[in-house]
Amino acid sequence: MSNKVELKGKCLCGAVKYKLSEKPLFTQACHCKDCKVLTGSSYVINSSVVENTFSIEGEISSTIKLQAGSGKYVQMFFCNKCGSYIYTDYESAIGRLNVRTKTLEKSEEFPPQAHIFTKDKDEWVNLSNFNNCFEKMYDPKETWPKESLSRIKEYLNIKK
Ligand SMILES: [Zn+2]
Ligand SMILES: [Zn+2]
Repeated sequence: MSNKVELKGKCLCGAVKYKLSEKPLFTQACHCKDCKVLTGSSYVINSSVVENTFSIEGEISSTIKLQAGSGKYVQMFFCNKCGSYIYTDYESAIGRLNVRTKTLEKSEEFPPQAHIFTKDKDEWVNLSNFNNCFEKMYDPKETWPKESLSRIKEYLNIKK
C-alpha cells in the first residue's frame, strides 16, 4: 500500500480544515494524567505524522508551551472558534506533529497501535485483549512498523 493519500480532517465547527498527504506514521492512545486533564477524558488518541505532510487552513490558536512528562515542551493547537484540539507539537518529536486522530474524517481507519502510560489508566478502561500496552513510554525502534521508521528517518535526512 502506498503512503501517498489524501486524508482530511476538521474541527467541530468546520472553520479549521487540514489535509495529510501521507498516512500517519503511528497512532497511539495516552492515558497519562496530563492528557486526562487536557481532554477532560480518560485518554487521548494521537496520530504521529511527518510535519511536511500536514497542511492546515483557518484561524488557529495555541496554548502556552507546557512541560511534558519527558521534561521537554509541548504546545497544543486548536480552532479559534470552537476550541477543538487539532494537533500537538512535542519538542521531543523532531520532524513530526501529532494530529488528534479523532479530528480525521476517517479516524476509524486509524485505531491505536499502542496504549501508553497505562499505569495511569482508568480501571474501567479494559485493555485485556490488547497486546501493545506500556506502563510508560516505549522505544519507537521496537514498536513502530519498520516502514514508518524509515519514512521519518528519510525525512530527517533530507531536512538536514
Ligand atoms: Zn472550529
Ligand atoms: Zn499523555
